[in-house]
Amino acid sequence: MTNKVAFKEAFNVIAGGVNSPVRAFASVGGEPCFIAQGKGAYIKDIEGNKYIDFVQSWGPLLFGHCDKDIVKACKKALKKGTSFGAPTLSESKLAKLVLENFPHLDKIRFVSSGTEATMSAIRLARGFTKREKILKFEGCYHGHSDSLLVSAGSGAATFNTPSSLGVLNEVAKQTLVARYNDIQSVKELFEKHGEEIACVIVEPIAGNMGLVLGEQEFLEELTRICKQNKALLIFDEVMSGFRASFLGSFGINKIEADIVTFGKVIGGGLPAAAFAARAEIMDILSPLGGVYQAGTLSGNPLAMAAGIVSISKAKKDKELYKRLARLAKMLTQGLSELAEERGVPFTSTFVGSMFGYFFTENPVKNYQDALKSDLKLFAKFHQNMLKQGIYLAPSQFETGFICDKMDEKMIIKTLEAARKSFKTL
Ligand SMILES: *Cc1c(COP(=O)(O)O)cnc(C)c1O
Repeated sequence: MTNKVAFKEAFNVIAGGVNSPVRAFASVGGEPCFIAQGKGAYIKDIEGNKYIDFVQSWGPLLFGHCDKDIVKACKKALKKGTSFGAPTLSESKLAKLVLENFPHLDKIRFVSSGTEATMSAIRLARGFTKREKILKFEGCYHGHSDSLLVSAGSGAATFNTPSSLGVLNEVAKQTLVARYNDIQSVKELFEKHGEEIACVIVEPIAGNMGLVLGEQEFLEELTRICKQNKALLIFDEVMSGFRASFLGSFGINKIEADIVTFGKVIGGGLPAAAFAARAEIMDILSPLGGVYQAGTLSGNPLAMAAGIVSISKAKKDKELYKRLARLAKMLTQGLSELAEERGVPFTSTFVGSMFGYFFTENPVKNYQDALKSDLKLFAKFHQNMLKQGIYLAPSQFETGFICDKMDEKMIIKTLEAARKSFKTL
């Protein structure tokens, strides 16, 4: 079967043909590749085309597809039963593996998706502070729960309108939106609403407007403002956790947020995510306290097994993130040089195993900057790379991922393809 036929068939039975919108290739045109299987750095579609995969399931696969150790652990868990709805030892094991690295996090709770993790973190912050408003940043994505699905509109210092039908205005109104890397926009909102703000939620390394690094001073100031106003600071590390460095943003900036959310790598490619905080905060969760949160498949034994291997392997290999960063640097520097040779407006960045690029000359520090990227150039580049066997995220506002099964040869191959692609722009 061809991708085209497969998409047509899917379109008839699944809304939009996909179970998550960005998979539809809407912003780059054409139909999505239907994946038949993955191995290491590569995926193969149902037509038999093979690609170097820089999406890696949008982040979770730090060790690539079908990592032997993860597969082995999952097989072992599978044989013992896939779900019990009762505690298992694997949950405490993964909890310890995560918490032992963070002095500011005492307790954790596992859920099945990043959306659940951030949604629960927000409820927890509201319950803890007994305040209603939250503050987020334009261009940061924290999953699709109502409170977090509000568009920035004109950016800083405005109340927001929902960015989706079905989100109540009443709910969206409680979400304030500031500009990323712009502390003044935060100060203004706190001056107006300081005593009503339960929490600030931020991607300390933003990966959902393309890759945009949070500046150290901005994040430090944010911590200070939250403390001063008795609001909680939530670092959403669903993407950056165990990706930007072993300790995510904490490994880079050493800033201690009140609540941290994890996802993606923490489940090693199976559905797991989590939120963690100091005991005083976590202990107000049900059954100890009055903040309700639950999940039939939370802490699922298969997901825990994959997560345990994923995190243990990442911890054991002291050179892992250096190695991945070296490849990310080689790729982004190479791309920037090739673009410059051809006079294509381009800027790129990387942190650990994450990389990003925009078709604009100016540095990108916030969402407004990201919007200046030439989306037509991006779409053309993406299509051309895909034809040459390079699978990049099919949207300008996403991050790329290096996995442990990649090597310099693959980066060189990718850069050769990019040289040809830039020529067509
Ligand atoms: C992916 C992501 C989410 C949502 O996670 P899902 O598992 O897709 O629900 C939340 N926050 C950030 C920063 C993410 O990258």
